[in-house]
Amino acid sequence: MADNGKQNGDVVKVNFNFRRELARKVEGNLANYCYQCGACVGDCPAAYYSDEFNPREIMLKVLYGLGDELIREDSVLWLCTNCYNCHERCPQDVKPVEVIISMKNMLADAGIYPKGVDRVIATFESTGRTVPYSASIDNRRAKFGLPPLSPVPVDEIKQLLEPADKGDES
Ligand code: SF4
Ligand code: SF4
Repeated sequence: MADNGKQNGDVVKVNFNFRRELARKVEGNLANYCYQCGACVGDCPAAYYSDEFNPREIMLKVLYGLGDELIREDSVLWLCTNCYNCHERCPQDVKPVEVIISMKNMLADAGIYPKGVDRVIATFESTGRTVPYSASIDNRRAKFGLPPLSPVPVDEIKQLLEPADKGDES
């Protein structure tokens, strides 16, 4: 047998179960198209401010199916700001941010999320915004020539958040 220079410990065993589970959550199974160019890293604010976070490395772990390294208590995924810069940069249309959001949902389903998320959810449910409105936001927007924030249809949002089967209760 030819010696490929690898010890057993060097062999990557792809976890196809995790890949399949994730593929069910991300429309189009986008991760498979990542060719590890790193373009998503260049404009990523989370990668800029953190040595731990790197969207290219996250996509590599996804390709290997290393769910245990991503779906865990101290997951780096929460450092992603959902800014979508990686989405704009990626030449392969992988949409790393959407892959990451799907894995954040997997974390949330497992009850693993930072304490601050509860507060953001409560604010969203009561105001329709993830950050509470304050006049100072409009003042800052005005300095950039931006119009005041538009009103949010809170009642409509609350209705959308109602469990689908609530109407069936009698
Ligand atoms: S969405 Fe997340 S991974 Fe993508 S560039 Fe922004 S912070 Fe980085
Ligand atoms: S830019 Fe796209 S193809 Fe390149 S490493 Fe990032 S996700 Fe993969």
